[in-house]
Amino acid sequence: MPKLIKSINDAILVQPGEASKLAQRSTVADELFPEREAAEAETKENAKAIDGLQDALWAGRSRALLVILQGIDTSGKDGTVRAVFNRCGPLGVAVTAFGRPSEEELAHDFLWRIHMAAPKKGMIGVFNRSQYEDVLVVKVRGLAPADVVERRYEQINAFERHLTENGVTVLKFMLNISKDEQKERLQARLDDLAKNWKFNADDLEDRKLWSDYQKAYEVALDRCSTEHAPWRVVPSDRKWQRNAIISAVVRRTLEDMNPKYPKTDWKPSDFKIT
Ligand code: ATP
Repeated sequence: MPKLIKSINDAILVQPGEASKLAQRSTVADELFPEREAAEAETKENAKAIDGLQDALWAGRSRALLVILQGIDTSGKDGTVRAVFNRCGPLGVAVTAFGRPSEEELAHDFLWRIHMAAPKKGMIGVFNRSQYEDVLVVKVRGLAPADVVERRYEQINAFERHLTENGVTVLKFMLNISKDEQKERLQARLDDLAKNWKFNADDLEDRKLWSDYQKAYEVALDRCSTEHAPWRVVPSDRKWQRNAIISAVVRRTLEDMNPKYPKTDWKPSDFKIT
């Protein structure tokens, strides 16, 4: 495991202060996980371990973990949540999906709704989309003035530093798929009756802006991969590779957080149940 996690991090971490070179990053991870069966077995094992670690995290109630999932439409954010956290009890994991902001949310600063959803001590919080939408879709579609967007990178870095200094470990995953893979996944939503509900014509509009989104992602990765909250770009064309990678990093991060069951100030023999 330790050797594998090093190889994973070497392959997917965006080193703080260095260019992310998104265009040169692979969307498949055959060197890390060449075999589907083994990768799926690994994911299952990791999901089980994550459940045990989450239990101790909740019992100790001194730290929290925030997992941020970003990626263009069809990149697999929902599928990742299902594969990585499916063994966890629903009370221990809080998933928040960020869509278009409401009127109320727009009346506040852009981090207001994000901060409200940050996990409390003992919890794992998962964000499906996040504060990064405010420098991605907002930038690409011109929903806020350029100078406002420009200031947000530093504001996000400061916010994430604030979280990490207050007991929240922040993991950020960008699910990286190729344009061809997105085409296939969108087509599947048209072809497969059971997937029709997922199809949204707006996604085709965003697909036309593919290169603008890639550029916006690259800037966000370059400017917001910090020592306290680095970005990881996950090859995501193959779902089973994506799941194996993310589950391994989440598991290892929780292991490093080393959650401990609290010691009691009584002995079981102090009590007798009649
Ligand atoms: P998924 O996120 O899984 O692709 P979806 O597209 O069905 O699902 P929705 O809840 O409908 O999800 O909303 C996502 C949409 O909201 C995306 O188009 C996203 O760009 C947009 N969005 C999210 N945050 C913002 C924001 N701060 N400003 C403007 N649009 C946003």
